[in-house]
Amino acid sequence: MERTIYVIAEHACGEISPVTFELLAFAAQIRTFRPLPISVLILGQDVSGMAEEIAASEGADITALEIPELGNYNGEVYRQVLADFFETEAPALICAGHTATGTDFAPGLAIRLGAASITNIRGVAEHETRLCFDRSICNGARTARVLPRTETAVLNVQPGVFRRTGPVSPRPGTVRIRRTEYAARKLRCTGIRPSQADPGALSDADVVVSAGNGVGDAENIGLVYRLAGLFPKSAVGGSRIVCDRGWLAYGQQVGVTGATVAPKLYIACGISGAPQHLSGMSGSAFIVAINTDVRAAMMSVADVCVTEDLATFIPTFIEACNAAAS
Ligand code: FAD
Repeated sequence: MERTIYVIAEHACGEISPVTFELLAFAAQIRTFRPLPISVLILGQDVSGMAEEIAASEGADITALEIPELGNYNGEVYRQVLADFFETEAPALICAGHTATGTDFAPGLAIRLGAASITNIRGVAEHETRLCFDRSICNGARTARVLPRTETAVLNVQPGVFRRTGPVSPRPGTVRIRRTEYAARKLRCTGIRPSQADPGALSDADVVVSAGNGVGDAENIGLVYRLAGLFPKSAVGGSRIVCDRGWLAYGQQVGVTGATVAPKLYIACGISGAPQHLSGMSGSAFIVAINTDVRAAMMSVADVCVTEDLATFIPTFIEACNAAAS
């Protein structure tokens, strides 16, 4: 049986999550070192439509595991169903997102398969002809290069690091549908409700404007929202201090313990640039820092540094943009 890179598709509320496409980009990057086939697995209730979509747009072969019990995500069901599935397959690598659900089921799955579990992955490389992976450690301040010593490895890949470059194959993928019965014994999800802020908005935004401690008080958060409002497809994020203070919701936190983002433009307003924050946004294509301290770490990663008080610079900038547009 041919050893395969498996991607576990992530989805929510009937929609494929962007991290699924990033996982395919990651798998395609692995193929630059090892010419292994890529296959996608999607689990849940009524997932066949999403499977067709992925096969058509990404050119990947996909297996849809239709499980009536999985109307809502359940880690216990994921671990058991995937462990049963892989008993008869030959996975080289199993890729999941380093997301709330991915980190919930993947390490337990690795234990069941006797596989290595590697979380927080940000890169793939080769060490003495063997595949190895770069993972973020020390709250993002360091990167460790790790070499799995097992036949199979289960990988959690950080969102926002790998970008889709195109389909993994020029032809449409095949779709295989299997129906599986499995009843969870230990946990049952009784319902899902929206959180205060939609973290998906951050990862999908072209422009992220983030507030740091330098905003000074809750009132000035309004300035950051007004600045974000200048750009279509934008979202507001923040540093941990700002979320701890309750000025923004935790779903808006960027960093090692929050969201990883890689927008086209990241504007850091009054953010010092601690390693824990940088690890969540340093993949942004273009970074602007507004900070009164020219020596702040954020200024050394920024493409454009604005050494000004944000409370005067942002309103002046908004006014100038509005004047130019009228
Ligand atoms: P500060 O460090 O206080 O910086 C404020 C900046 O604003 C300064 O550079 C200052 O010069 C500038 N400033 C002040 N006034 C103005 C003004 N008027 N105009 C313009 N600039 C001004 N942090 C995260 O962000 N995300 C995480 O996920 C995260 N996870 C963590 C996990 C752990 C285990 C730990 C220990 C810490 C974590 N942190 C995280 C916290 C992190 O270490 C920093 O404390 C935090 O990022 C600092 O936030 P800040 O830059 O907003 O504030």
